[in-house]
Amino acid sequence: MSEISRVGIVGCGLMGSGIAEVCARAGLDVIVADITAEATAAGQRRVEESMNRARERGKLAAEEHERALANLRFTQDLDEFADREVTIEAVTEDEELKTGIFARLDKAVQSPDAILASNTSSIPIMKLGMATSRPEHVIGIHFFNPVPVQALVEVVPSLLTGDPVTDAAARFASETLGKTVIRAKDRAGFVVNALLVPYLLSAVRMLESGFASAEDIDRGMVLGCAHPMGPLRLTDLIGLDTTRSIAESLFEEFKEPLFSPPPLLLRMVEAGLLGRKSGRGFYQY
Ligand code: NAD
Repeated sequence: MSEISRVGIVGCGLMGSGIAEVCARAGLDVIVADITAEATAAGQRRVEESMNRARERGKLAAEEHERALANLRFTQDLDEFADREVTIEAVTEDEELKTGIFARLDKAVQSPDAILASNTSSIPIMKLGMATSRPEHVIGIHFFNPVPVQALVEVVPSLLTGDPVTDAAARFASETLGKTVIRAKDRAGFVVNALLVPYLLSAVRMLESGFASAEDIDRGMVLGCAHPMGPLRLTDLIGLDTTRSIAESLFEEFKEPLFSPPPLLLRMVEAGLLGRKSGRGFYQY
């Protein structure tokens, strides 16, 4: 597969905006789509503010900043993805929504060699592949939050993904975007979330049972284990809704009680307390 220069990103929330920024800064031509004009404008603001912050901190030179901005285009119309060589889906963690997007991308993207990737944290890549007529071109490229800062990418082929597609996706993440790649099998949660999410859920259960305060749980893991952030603050950063969805996918796959979302997490999501992105979760922002 030749070098990739045209990328399309679907969903411009927390993750899509970060992926868009990293791709634009790598010199790629990037089209970003979200569902409404408002969501698209909010996504565009998120990308621009993040790049402004990077520039203020001296991590992005003025010239590179201008070039990256010029590489970005925003839309609500997936038909504009016709010439994309890689598409990365980063919409809300919802299986029905994602399979619908993959069916739509299958029609919109014209190149038969294009890679159709998902940033899903836990939905089987096989289900997304089977929503298209080309499952051999569908793969997981899973970034970490915040995307411009976190070095890791998990590359996740399904049983039907072609080896050249897996190799091209890994090269894209490592050589083009400068990330460190680990490969994982197509099992809910892949490597990192299968280990991380039961730990986060255990912290929520600990808080729910009155075992310790949120501050003490977090302080315990920061000072006791040298984690950069405690589990409840990290859940706030990930988003409580996203954490719940990942937990549900893990539970559905493995039927392991540790993976089932605790009632406190469910109630907080129902209340719109989604963490940092909504202004309140386990902490106030
Ligand atoms: P988010 O809620 O911040 O953003 C989701 C975006 O998808 C929103 O902008 C929403 O408007 C958009 N969207 C919804 N329906 C759409 C549609 N039909 N067409 C186009 N856009 C649509 O969520 P997020 O945290 O960015 O998560 C996105 C994906 O990334 C999920 O699959 C999640 O599991 C995964 N992920 C999240 C994290 C994290 O830390 N939050 C880390 C790695 C991977």
